[in-house]
Amino acid sequence: MTEPPAARRKIAYLLPVYNEEQSVAAFHRALVEATEPLRDRYDLQFLYVDDGSQDRSFEHLVALHEADSRVVVLRLSRNFGHQKAVTAALDACHADAAIIMDTDLQDPPAVSLELVERWEAGAEVVYAQRRTRDDSWFKRTTAHAFYRVLSKAASIDIPRDTGDFRLLDRRVVEELTKYREHNRFLRGMVSHVGFTQEAVLFDRARRHGGTSGYPLAKMLKLAGDGIFGFSTAPLQLISRVGLVFSLLSLIGIAYAVVVRFAYPENAVPGWAFLAITLFLIGGVQISMLGILGSYLGRVYVEVQDRPLYSVATVLGDPW
Ligand code: UDP
Ligand code: MG
Repeated sequence: MTEPPAARRKIAYLLPVYNEEQSVAAFHRALVEATEPLRDRYDLQFLYVDDGSQDRSFEHLVALHEADSRVVVLRLSRNFGHQKAVTAALDACHADAAIIMDTDLQDPPAVSLELVERWEAGAEVVYAQRRTRDDSWFKRTTAHAFYRVLSKAASIDIPRDTGDFRLLDRRVVEELTKYREHNRFLRGMVSHVGFTQEAVLFDRARRHGGTSGYPLAKMLKLAGDGIFGFSTAPLQLISRVGLVFSLLSLIGIAYAVVVRFAYPENAVPGWAFLAITLFLIGGVQISMLGILGSYLGRVYVEVQDRPLYSVATVLGDPW
């Protein structure tokens, strides 16, 4: 008697799309080709989330869905941002493993096979870590600095030089969907969840076409969510800076007293000193208020607790 064949495991690719009309068709072709070797062992689904694109991305996705039943499309009601688009896909996904990838061909589809191998070997999170990246000098330097600051400040260990390109086992996806914070930094949340996590190194390519959907303002917002969401170090920094300035003022007082009594002829009205101190202390105070404001603003948004995103259209059945 032969054993019944083991049920085929399901792998879903979670693919956020924002104004990618120049890339998405080429990306899908590359993805289908790269995942060909997985076909005889797994059931695959390609879950695209159109994050309110204003170009013809959605029309491209509809065509992909009509041509290939493995393509499922969620269209959000407007642009909610990359982190929430990925969240919408995670919420809809009940596959045995989910692979998050960008759709501009910066994350090479072939690397996902290595992620699957490591998953089969027992890892529950396999993140793709950039060995090199072909981005602008500005993006590389700021990203580099950000990951160093984050790893110093964050209360958990968030791997450096890692985007959202990663494979998550179903159990990790289930845990992640319990994290409902609005100011989302998925990489931090994945580290927070725990489980067995492994890295696979890869070379990040240049964007296939179009422009980045992460202009400076969005990048700063994400950096803020990473640091303020996973660290209270900036709050402690306020008291430290306050302490340093109090000590400095003590030294200043001692100096003034000494000058007044030991060298009265030098005790000129020190307007420059006063003015500089005034601006310095004022500047420091306002920056510290800014740090408090950053936390307060985030608390406000969390308290409002609005839905994270709204889905307008669904094509196909997400697993
Ligand atoms: N993206 C998104 N919503 C946004 C911005 C970007 O879904 O508001 C998608 C985008 O289509 C891509 C991925 O997120 O698949 C990464 O964005 P992008 O390539 O623009 O960022 P970069 O690689 O420049 O950091
Ligand atoms: Mg990109």
